[in-house]
Amino acid sequence: MKKILFPFALLVMSSAISAQSPAIPRDEALEQKVESTLSRMTLDEKLGQMLQMNIDIMGNTQVENAHVDREKVKSVAQQYGMSQSQLNAILAKSDNDIIAMFQKYNVDIYTNDTRRVWKLNETMVDTLISKWKVGSILNAPATRAQTVDQWQKWITLIQEKSMKYLGIPCIYGLDNNHGVTYIQGGTMFPQPINIAATFNTDLAYAGARICAYESRTANTPWVFNPTIDLCRDARWPRIWESYGEDAIVNARMVEAAVHGYQGDDNNHLGMYNVATSVKHYFGYGAPFSGKDRTPAYISPLLLREKYFEPFRAAIKAGALTIMVNSASVNGVPLHSSYEYLTQWLKEDLNWDGMIITDWADINNLYTREKVAKDKKDAIRIAINAGIDMSMDPYSVEFCVLLKQLVEEGSVKMSRIDDAVRRILRLKYRLGLFEMPNTPAYSNPKKVASALKKSYPNYACAAFADEALHAAEESEVLLKNDNNTLPIAQGKKIMLTGPNANQMRCLNGGWTYTWQGSKADDLSAPYNTIYEALCNKYGKENIILEQGVTYDENGAYYAENAPQIDKAVNAAQGADIIVACIGENSYTETPGNLTDLTLSDNQRQLVKALAKTGKPIVMVLNEGRPRLVADIEPLANAVVDIMLPGNYGGDALANLLAGDANFSAKMPYTYPKEINSLINYDYKVSEEVGTMAGAYDYNAKVVQQWPFGYGMSYTTYDYSNLHVDKTDFSSQDNITVSVDVKNTGKQAGKESVLLYSSDLIASITPDSRRLRAFQKVSLQPGETKTVSFTLPASALAFVGADGKWVLEEGDFVLTTGNQAVKISCKDTKKWTTANIE
Ligand code: BGC
Repeated sequence: MKKILFPFALLVMSSAISAQSPAIPRDEALEQKVESTLSRMTLDEKLGQMLQMNIDIMGNTQVENAHVDREKVKSVAQQYGMSQSQLNAILAKSDNDIIAMFQKYNVDIYTNDTRRVWKLNETMVDTLISKWKVGSILNAPATRAQTVDQWQKWITLIQEKSMKYLGIPCIYGLDNNHGVTYIQGGTMFPQPINIAATFNTDLAYAGARICAYESRTANTPWVFNPTIDLCRDARWPRIWESYGEDAIVNARMVEAAVHGYQGDDNNHLGMYNVATSVKHYFGYGAPFSGKDRTPAYISPLLLREKYFEPFRAAIKAGALTIMVNSASVNGVPLHSSYEYLTQWLKEDLNWDGMIITDWADINNLYTREKVAKDKKDAIRIAINAGIDMSMDPYSVEFCVLLKQLVEEGSVKMSRIDDAVRRILRLKYRLGLFEMPNTPAYSNPKKVASALKKSYPNYACAAFADEALHAAEESEVLLKNDNNTLPIAQGKKIMLTGPNANQMRCLNGGWTYTWQGSKADDLSAPYNTIYEALCNKYGKENIILEQGVTYDENGAYYAENAPQIDKAVNAAQGADIIVACIGENSYTETPGNLTDLTLSDNQRQLVKALAKTGKPIVMVLNEGRPRLVADIEPLANAVVDIMLPGNYGGDALANLLAGDANFSAKMPYTYPKEINSLINYDYKVSEEVGTMAGAYDYNAKVVQQWPFGYGMSYTTYDYSNLHVDKTDFSSQDNITVSVDVKNTGKQAGKESVLLYSSDLIASITPDSRRLRAFQKVSLQPGETKTVSFTLPASALAFVGADGKWVLEEGDFVLTTGNQAVKISCKDTKKWTTANIE
């Protein structure tokens, strides 16, 4: 019954609200330019603006010094249904003849050492822009990073044609998840999951500011980032792409990141700023199956209260575009939802930004989700729901079919105009009409020298320092029995495990290539953990014997035959073992898994090494929390470095040696049992003691390491938790302060996390909720008072009727070991969709 009532209740609520002030202030002069451009456009031009295509179709890969891999020829033959005799005839030919035969087909039959060069086909670019009037392009050819110079050339050409044929610049978008994924030599920050672990919003800002600068250097003005999917299922392969499981952490981080990317004025972005595409809206991070792009079932209450919150914050911070979740929530594919796209985002928040689909997701409405009968039907549904731009990578059919829909009246011209207005507004806000290229469209021949002048800081040492510092603040110390760490100079360290000596797993996906694989040449200048430890302790003190290695030619989870005995032998000569275990890199669906437990080989390696009796430091380097319950007790110290980026090895060496102090805390709950996947804000009813009487009823929460947990080389004392009022009303602000003292011998940084618990509520309350956080630096012996101001409405929740409510009654605020009870004196229910 509830399920039927909800959408209706939310619909009524949405339409009943009065428009609030625009999320981005309206700029009249800019709006006039938008209107004037729109008024001159033909329908075909408008439809072309609504299409985004993949760069791959605008060129092709050519090979140099090609050699044939006959195994690949066999597999191509199999795919195309060739007979054995046809295949044999082909295999009998020389390499040159086979190459000549296959040249006209788009198949890769070459050995890995063959050089592949992607060439832009100018005629194709010309056709797509002049005939189809395509307004946006994405991606790197074959999803591989290119040089700044190459990007400048391609995009300058694309802009030349766009201005010539359309008078409207193209907008080029790239997936930059932790720095410039597809631009060689740029600065790679830790992945967002690590930034969440820092609990330091300044670092989200810094990473975004640097990434914006470097994106613009390469003439790419739009990033598909920040990612703020609440990752609330430990199995999901995209956990590392966003800021963890909590709504407030994601919300505060995305505000900082949007500011870092877009700068101070969201109507007039500067030459060092880029537009963001906050993604994936929404409910993506809790698929029922744990697998990517599969359905989620999330109560409407949770959707509004938690999953929506970071997107609301992003829009309020001025995010210029939003990308939509590829999957469905409660049976509703997000790309088809008028309620979620138009009402929640555009109307309720009075947001004039632009909504883009994810990869081919209009097609998916009929091919996968089965809510449309064919492509045309899918386009009708999606555009009417509120999609403004379709990422339809390989086909211009979108324009043909949408034109038919407009002519038939199934999509109104007013909807097309609204979408195109939003796209033009974005391009004007980015300043692309005035300056389609950075830095100097007027003189493409002098781009290289102009670039050096305008963007001298690309990949500079100062950016690298900021990335190193962020990595240090992001690696979490989870265990340190008997001060196993720091490891003193002069000790002999045996370094083992598949993650000990490769950059790929430090960076994770979206690094130089989509999967983060096959990019060792581009990450070669940076230090693996092995190289960093050699630099720190001297090569003579590091014994490298990995025991288990990844098979770089297989899937991300493929491992070579283990050599555990070799590792055990090598450990004999060591004082301490550092075991670097976890996962190899993956992105999206290829990262799906069948078992969350860490691989057998890796667990066997740790078990065998434990028998040597040497102390073990377990370093977890992984995109999601792989279960380690059976080996954790064998480790004397545990550090979870997650995906710390190019400087993650150096950061780890500094931390292990005690030259830097740990200050990170877990951004998600680290599970212990496969059947106990839980988030930190579980319901109180999940954890109750054994009831009295004949039956042994109880409920227990089991976790390996809780959300917000993390140790340091120093200790902190919390005292004097103070609230300015213990009784408050719904209109009040509550000021909370607490003294935090560094009681140890080393300087450190402490993230102060403020939680609330609602003691009695009309629906079962969450055990606790993070409401605010702040990171402070403290010298040994130093005390700082940390204050937070919480509006009383921060303690509201979405009630059983779908409306926000703050209920009269008691709450407990906690931070560190301190707690204080406060009381709300009145009940307030909001009639608006969001709390204003
Ligand atoms: C991913 C998005 C990404 C897009 C463009 C999709 O497969 O889900 O996160 O932005 O591709 O590369």
